[in-house]
Amino acid sequence: MKLSFVVPCYNEAENVALFQDAVIAAFSGCGYDYEIVFVDDGSKDATYHNLKKIHASQRCPVKVIRLSRNFGKESALYAGLEHADGDYISLIDADLQQRPEIVRDMVATLEENPEYDIVAAYQDRRGEGKVLSFFKKSFYAIINRLSDVSLRSDASDFRTFRRSVAESLLAVGEYHRFSKGIFAWVGYNTHFIPYVAEPRKAGTSKWSFRKLMNYAIEGIIGYSTKPLRIATGIGTLTAISAFIYLLVVVIQKLAFDIAIPGYATIIVLILLLGGVQLLCIGIIGEYVGRTFEQSKNRPIYLAKDILTYKNEDTD
Ligand code: UDP
Ligand code: MG
Repeated sequence: MKLSFVVPCYNEAENVALFQDAVIAAFSGCGYDYEIVFVDDGSKDATYHNLKKIHASQRCPVKVIRLSRNFGKESALYAGLEHADGDYISLIDADLQQRPEIVRDMVATLEENPEYDIVAAYQDRRGEGKVLSFFKKSFYAIINRLSDVSLRSDASDFRTFRRSVAESLLAVGEYHRFSKGIFAWVGYNTHFIPYVAEPRKAGTSKWSFRKLMNYAIEGIIGYSTKPLRIATGIGTLTAISAFIYLLVVVIQKLAFDIAIPGYATIIVLILLLGGVQLLCIGIIGEYVGRTFEQSKNRPIYLAKDILTYKNEDTD
């Protein structure tokens, strides 16, 4: 039996060695093989340098995949999955917010319960601000209403699963990857366990508010076409209201000969209709843009260097 850790790293120079130490401490004497698949997601610091050192030291089986630029965590995970060959695969961050010891329990749970395919950790306690947590809650409320898959708000990417699940994740070859959605989409029997995220060992979180917003839009557009339906709805409503107003104006003019004061009404209507049209075009544009990007069939990531432990340095 073999376990693969898939570890996306973006500017984690100080963390990668600590991460390996933690894995070795937790898994020496566990009775099965394990490997660490580090994916350097185009880091700008000494991450790759340190990963090469880790690889050369041969303290445990290590693979390093260095992407040609920063492709984002989701693509890095895909790259790691492609190179992981364990019977069990664990997705875990390099910053030690997610302790490798928990993976031991996850593997034990999978071994003992053949009916489970995925053991996923959800965050028991969130150390984030009120504003962020409000936005996250609203996002999940919206996406669960809109999309066909249902997502847990507190679930993380910290998961351990069987080989068959990894194959399924790889089979989902979409360019815009939203891993929570992909996990929900592939299905399988998921067992949730709570975990408490540790503070980051070093470096800073790569998430900014803007990135989170983009992620949220990705989740909604990628898993639902209901926004298009909503655009149609808004259009229909506006058209009906305009028609009713037209009747009112005509009756006022013909039956009662009331002078219609025009200027303000016209300005308001032009702005309103213009706004509604741009909004709907924007929604359609989001889908067209994604169709365009997917139709180009670009690879999800490009690897610059790959270090494995069977055949050294296949650069
Ligand atoms: N990460 C990555 N590519 C990116 C951003 C992040 O590979 O473009 C990695 C990062 O190195 C870390 C994990 O994804 O191992 C989670 O990132 P981070 O700790 O910044 O997120 P948070 O824990 O704050 O949600
Ligand atoms: Mg983190």
